[in-house]
Amino acid sequence: MGHFKRIPIFAANWKMNKTAAETRDFFSVFLPAIDGILGREVVVAPPFTALAAASQMMRSGISVSLASQNMYFEREGAFTGEVSPVMLKEFGVRWVILGHSERRHIFGEDDRLIARKVRSALDAGLKPMLCIGEKLDEREAGLTFEVLDRQISSALAEIDQGMLGEIALAYEPVWAIGTGRAAALDQIQDVHSHIRSYLGQNFNSTIADGIRIMYGGSVNLKNVEGVVAMPDVDGVLVGGASLDPKKFADMVRCKIG
Ligand code: PEP
Repeated sequence: MGHFKRIPIFAANWKMNKTAAETRDFFSVFLPAIDGILGREVVVAPPFTALAAASQMMRSGISVSLASQNMYFEREGAFTGEVSPVMLKEFGVRWVILGHSERRHIFGEDDRLIARKVRSALDAGLKPMLCIGEKLDEREAGLTFEVLDRQISSALAEIDQGMLGEIALAYEPVWAIGTGRAAALDQIQDVHSHIRSYLGQNFNSTIADGIRIMYGGSVNLKNVEGVVAMPDVDGVLVGGASLDPKKFADMVRCKIG
């Protein structure tokens, strides 16, 4: 595992899965199974409709943070179907996943919209988990770093440098999400180290050294230890394999370093 100051994050992105009742069932198995685990940050992102049930399951002393999978950047108003940062905070939400590839590619979110959301989340006191990642054709054309640099610089364009410590990045190659085909460990390390040096050049080395860069894309119980052993990997964002409370608890408890 990377830098000693960077506490690894194990985050579950449930996507459009689980009702409120299923969410209660999940936490009643998951929370006892991770009891006493130290030195890692655990984050779960249920759908909006299950946030209330999830927050009711949290007790004091439980070290799980709630995330939302998306939000809109305005505080309130005529934005049918959207949810604002203040609404999320009411449920104890601490993190917000932004720029997920499904938001970018199914729902057409562009860099400018994502930048406004990142800014708005930080202004509201939410911590963005900013997802970036290249598509398969971009990787094959040798454009991976170019795509990632553009996604990072535009998403962070509207924020003060001092706020960067509140953000975690998640490198999620689009071709590895939900495909059962995780990136190879050397590909992951190569990209993470590039991202960290890009942040060092564009901001400063203290920021680059401290920011957590997670990997996502077909992480499961079999490959998680290898992924988190990479020196520039500071945690994982897990979709499919996070839906089973026992399996995700085993992932959270994996051996590090
Ligand atoms: C994700 O949705 O962020 C993700 C990484 O999904 P999966 O683990 O299913 O590939």
